[in-house]
Amino acid sequence: MTGPTSERAVVLASGGLDSTVTAAVARRDGYALHLLTIAYRQRHAVEVERSRQVATALGAHQHVVIDVDLRALGGSALTGDISVPKHRTESERNREVPVTYVPGRNLIFLSLAAAHAEVLGASVIYFGANVIDYSGYPDCRPEFIQAVEAALQAGTKAGMQGKGIEIRAPLLRMTKAEIIKLGLTLNVPFHLTHSCYDPIGPIACGQCDSCLIRKRGFAEAGVVDPIQYEVC
Ligand SMILES: [Zn+2]
Repeated sequence: MTGPTSERAVVLASGGLDSTVTAAVARRDGYALHLLTIAYRQRHAVEVERSRQVATALGAHQHVVIDVDLRALGGSALTGDISVPKHRTESERNREVPVTYVPGRNLIFLSLAAAHAEVLGASVIYFGANVIDYSGYPDCRPEFIQAVEAALQAGTKAGMQGKGIEIRAPLLRMTKAEIIKLGLTLNVPFHLTHSCYDPIGPIACGQCDSCLIRKRGFAEAGVVDPIQYEVC
């Protein structure tokens, strides 16, 4: 899984913890980083600003931010008027597809990443999907990723020319603690990453699913989370 430094990889970078570790993995694998952030009018838009800081910290070759207004469609706690759930237990989180699921989001993101990759001549997309801590999200599952790869093979010029576009999800089956430990070995700037679904300004709420999973991950990894929480 190594590539010469002249080879380009598109990395879907949200400014969150998982995508930042994923970008660091792509850098370790020897790729020139082309970070792509989608500003979808999410509730936690502070992560777009963090993605810019992450791109600088990781020495990205390029960082592109594309605006896509998913709030116009709604249907999610992250883009609509639905409240972000707080203080949920692990079994409550895993019971059903959470209201923080954004309809079509990762399909849209991967489509844009593939378009970007085609233009750049990149054959690899790095994607920070994970099925362990977010098992309720259908668009993080391996069968979804494989299906998108097949669609790209069939529906892109790169695919027609036999080059294809590979989607790598190196964190897919890792726990949050394992992801954090990997990030530490790759000098990930965790202090810049943002995970909260419902921040108060730039401060993480400490109570939403994403905050709870992040806090537990740092605790299990035995390291201090450098970000600030409204409720610890
Ligand atoms: Zn939160």
